[in-house]
This record gives sequence, C-alpha cells and structure tokens, in this order.
Amino acid sequence: MAAGVITVNRDTKPGLLPVMYGMYIVFSNMIKTLFGKELATIQFPEQKRPTSTRYRGIHVLTQREDGTPKCVACYMCATVCPAECIFIEAGERPEKDIEKYPTRFEIDLLRCVYCGFCVDACPEEAIVMSRENDLVGTSRAELIIDRDRLMDRGKLMEYGAGYRPSDHDVRRPVRIAALERLRREHGIVPGMPEPRSSRPAPG
Ligand code: SF4
Ligand code: SF4
Repeated sequence: MAAGVITVNRDTKPGLLPVMYGMYIVFSNMIKTLFGKELATIQFPEQKRPTSTRYRGIHVLTQREDGTPKCVACYMCATVCPAECIFIEAGERPEKDIEKYPTRFEIDLLRCVYCGFCVDACPEEAIVMSRENDLVGTSRAELIIDRDRLMDRGKLMEYGAGYRPSDHDVRRPVRIAALERLRREHGIVPGMPEPRSSRPAPG
C-alpha cells in the first residue's frame, strides 16, 4: 500500500457520542444566534464586515501633490495582469523625469480577478487597492472604471486602505516577470528595478 493512504473501516458503527457532539454544536450555535451573541449575519449594507488591511478590493489610482496621476504609463500592470483587463493609452508630460502619463486608464472590474498583481508590478506605487467590494452597476459599461473615477476613489475613506506595496515583500518577482514579458512580447527594455535599499531616499 502507498505511504500516507489511510484505510477507513466503514463497517464500524459510530455510536451515539459523535451524533450527540454534533447536536451540541448545532444547539449551542442556535442559542448564541437567538440571544444576539456572535451573530453569523450582518445588516448589510448599513453594516460592513471588518476586512484586513491586505484586502484586495477595487483599485485606486494615486495622485501627485498637483492632482495629476502618479502613473507614468509604463504598462507594467497591464502586462502582468492575468485577466488582461487594464487598458492604458499614454500621453507625454513636459517634465523629463516623468515623461509619460495615462490619457486613458481603464480597468474592467467584471474581468478583474482581484489578484493584486498590478499593485505588485507597479514601480511608482501609482495603483493600490481599497477594501471596497460592493460596487454595483446596471450595465457592463458602468463597471469599466476609468482614470478619473479611479483617482477619485482615494476619497473613499469609509472602506479604508487595502492591499498596497508597503506591507509585503513579494512584488519584486511579479515586477521582474512583467519586465521580461514586456521585453519578450513587445521588445521594450525599460531596465530592471534596483533593490529598494539602493534607491535614493525620496526628497
Ligand atoms: S487585480 Fe489582478 S486581474 Fe485585477 S486588474 Fe490587477 S492584475 Fe488585473
Ligand atoms: S504599473 Fe503603475 S505606473 Fe505603470 S502603468 Fe500601471 S499604474 Fe501606471
């Protein structure tokens, strides 16, 4: 017999004890629910369940101090996105150290699988996630969320901040995968990211 395989003898009668234990769990949960302790349900949408600060909810595009998008339209997020639901068009900025910005930045929320790879891949911390998970719309078009709506979402404080780069260390492999795919499929070589410790401190 292969190692790790457990043979269960189904002829053995379980007896009354496991049944009574199961009934004890059922009745104790019923009493807790009836008397308002540890309710399993909430009054949604007035009440919301608390979620982790790593929750992967609907995206937010972050802004510079002058209100323009932090995004430099590098296509890293769109390249690494497994659902291919990010659409970007780039325009030129006059500043030499920024160069580009997104004239169009859309995410199709009905295709998104909320993996957070776009957040991991972004070299500018220009895209982060919120804890909002209940956006509704009456048409598909309403759930394709554009640049200005994504930037406005920074004001949605009631949901709190979700998944963002500073609280994990797994994004470098995702960024490297995005860079390699950009090079392989589009012939773009923007340069590999420097380790965080060797970057100059923001001034
Ligand atoms: S969370 Fe994942 S699927 Fe959604 S836009 Fe980002 S990379 Fe694409
Ligand atoms: S990876 Fe970041 S900077 Fe690059 S296009 Fe996406 S959001 Fe913009």
